[in-house]
Amino acid sequence: MSYDKNNIFAKILRKEIPCKKIFENEYVLSFYDIHAQKKIHALIIPKGEYIDLDDFNQKASDQEIVAISKAITEVSRILGVSADTGKGYRALTNLGEHGGQEVPHLHFHLFGGEKIGKMVE
Ligand code: AMP
Repeated sequence: MSYDKNNIFAKILRKEIPCKKIFENEYVLSFYDIHAQKKIHALIIPKGEYIDLDDFNQKASDQEIVAISKAITEVSRILGVSADTGKGYRALTNLGEHGGQEVPHLHFHLFGGEKIGKMVE
């Protein structure tokens, strides 16, 4: 499968549609999920064109890979849910059909602000 340049997150990265930005650097953009499933629901995405985590780990540079991991912690601090600023959070990525991925651009969800509940249904 090749990367779909018309997916919604690609449009957000090109500023064709707006987002509620939380954090940005050279490699990463973070913004609020439009349909929050918990009190805090943020998304963290690479700026590069990667479909999912497998695609990312195969093609991304070491700097990009490090950046996305560090960005999750940075966003958790900004939102006051990191281990040192709050009560914790859950970060996850969905991949492919069985993983339930809807948007074909790698993204990590960050849930917090309340107990997140069961790991899987
Ligand atoms: P996933 O099922 O892991 O692919 O998650 C995709 C997520 O993107 C869902 O939680 C959607 O609510 C979210 N989403 C879709 N469109 C937008 C948008 N325009 N801005 C922010 N979040 C979005």
